[in-house]
Amino acid sequence: MIRFENVEVSFGEKIAIPDLNLEIEQGEFFTLLGPSGCGKTTALRTLAGFIEPSRGEIYIDGKVATRLPSEKRSVGMVFQNYALFPSMSVRENIAFGLRVRKTRKAETALLVDEIAAQVELTSEQLAKNVSELSGGQQQRVAIARALVLKPRILLLDEPLSNLDAKLRVQLREQLKNLQRELGITTVYVTHDQEEALTMSDRIAVFNHGVVEQVGTPEEIYNRSGTEFVCTFVGAMNRLSGDVVHQLRQRGGTGLAAAKTSYLRLEKVSLHAPTGATAAIRLDGVVAGRSYHGSHSTYTIDSHGSSIRALVPEGGGCPLEPGSAAQLYIDPSSVLQY
Ligand code: ATP
Repeated sequence: MIRFENVEVSFGEKIAIPDLNLEIEQGEFFTLLGPSGCGKTTALRTLAGFIEPSRGEIYIDGKVATRLPSEKRSVGMVFQNYALFPSMSVRENIAFGLRVRKTRKAETALLVDEIAAQVELTSEQLAKNVSELSGGQQQRVAIARALVLKPRILLLDEPLSNLDAKLRVQLREQLKNLQRELGITTVYVTHDQEEALTMSDRIAVFNHGVVEQVGTPEEIYNRSGTEFVCTFVGAMNRLSGDVVHQLRQRGGTGLAAAKTSYLRLEKVSLHAPTGATAAIRLDGVVAGRSYHGSHSTYTIDSHGSSIRALVPEGGGCPLEPGSAAQLYIDPSSVLQY
């Protein structure tokens, strides 16, 4: 559906994206994930037709779209700040693109009502001025305004980042459901790794304008292809050389001594696993505990590493700081770069 082929984007002397190659399938929820300034918004705006690449081609639906004006690409875009027209009603905002296209009044009203129902805006809300709506409702208006033109591709640039944490989590699910219902190919930009993991079919992780890995959320999280991906996505323990040495001596023969080693917090167990297991026991001392409700995070000092472990609520009696603890680590869970 979408293909970036050797795309370079520069701003004067500065090359924001040196050589982008990506393929996005029809109906996919595809996320561009990365820290601020890594080029994800630039990639999205280039796809939207707001920026022309200095080299390479963009294909939409198998056809070259590189120099096609934005309105000919069948893309709908939702911006981080929604970019709504503040003096217009909700209905007028949603109908804006239809009016530009000179759609007949009766048909416009029908299309607006249809899309409003889909994004769960009431007729009462349609009559209000956009400035009277909450952030979450304004975000729906922005999505409705993009979708009412029935684009084949929906582009979303950090659409949830201006909302409070609880609403963000609710809207994640609603947005994902709406996308699935409509089956619309969606390209989503975010720096929030949790958002990317929960919503996406596939994720491209950007770093300094370069895609470090493309994969499903599970692949990105469990089989991070690079050190950057593994540390950017989710919390990680970095293991000391001494810990790696201990693991190697006690059965972890697959581990390399010279590489940098990481281990996810939930891969560290504070209790001897039952049944046949490859887990290796290390001795340590509890350095601290933080309570998070659903789980606690323990920090255990062991062989020169401060290793954090997640213990679900109710997963055993609390260990006091200063007391001895045992860690159980399966060497096959260790990621090395
Ligand atoms: P953020 O999440 O902060 O928006 P981003 O990953 O989306 O970050 P971009 O906005 O794509 O990053 O920016 C990538 C690089 O290109 C940055 O170094 C930025 O300073 C530069 N850049 C972006 N737009 C322009 C512009 N119009 N003129 C000059 N440089 C730009």
